[in-house]
Amino acid sequence: MGTSAGKAMSPIGVMGGTFDPIHFGHLRLAEDMADALGLERVLFIPAGQPPHRDAPRTAAGHRLEMVRRAIGGNPRFVADAREVQRPQPSYTVDTLTALRAELGQTQPLWLLLGADAFLGLAGWHDWRRLFELANIAVATRPGAQLLQPGAIIEPLKSEVTQRQVVSCNPPGQPAGAILLRTTPLLDISATAIRGMLARHDSARYLLPDAVLDYIHEYQLYARI
Ligand code: ATP
Ligand code: MG
Repeated sequence: MGTSAGKAMSPIGVMGGTFDPIHFGHLRLAEDMADALGLERVLFIPAGQPPHRDAPRTAAGHRLEMVRRAIGGNPRFVADAREVQRPQPSYTVDTLTALRAELGQTQPLWLLLGADAFLGLAGWHDWRRLFELANIAVATRPGAQLLQPGAIIEPLKSEVTQRQVVSCNPPGQPAGAILLRTTPLLDISATAIRGMLARHDSARYLLPDAVLDYIHEYQLYARI
């Protein structure tokens, strides 16, 4: 599918994360980018064993199921289990390579990132190849000027300066562009949610009730 020449293809978004647990910050980022980029689908891909950070404390199966419950009812959102099903570390570059092989060379792909993840990109495995495989959309807080002098440090900066950087009117190319989108990021993190749950504080209204119900059912995050 998706390889017919000549026809404009609707872009597809890729939203990765540990999702330990998924929360409204992730969902809002994906929804906002889906509108801004005209995404036909956003694939939520929970990491199996993220190589660039500490191993998540919650089993991959639980994190995947929480994603499924969180996105239920949103026709644009799809849960993708490919990384949690792999026994070896899941690198984003490998996932995008697999998607590229499935969807064809002309399919526009957008990797969706929060500014914190984007600024750490140069620490990712084979990171320069990410720009060959997908476009990258970065959500930045209002006032946080990602392109001001000194905001992005080398070597990411030298890569970014070679790329087409836009803040609106996303280009339709399959890969290589960067979109910086100012959006009021919700001040929510999975780390803070885990802390609240361990203290038996309420985390309600920070993540979907369906996810919170699942967490209580399986007694996840009962202690840090
Ligand atoms: P943790 O606290 O465990 O690091 P997290 O809430 O930061 O979890 P991640 O899985 O680390 O979630 O992040 C996945 C992606 O979601 C990253 O691209 C990150 O920038 C983005 N993201 C995380 N929190 C938010 C938020 N509140 N608003 C927008 N994007 C977010
Ligand atoms: Mg994080």
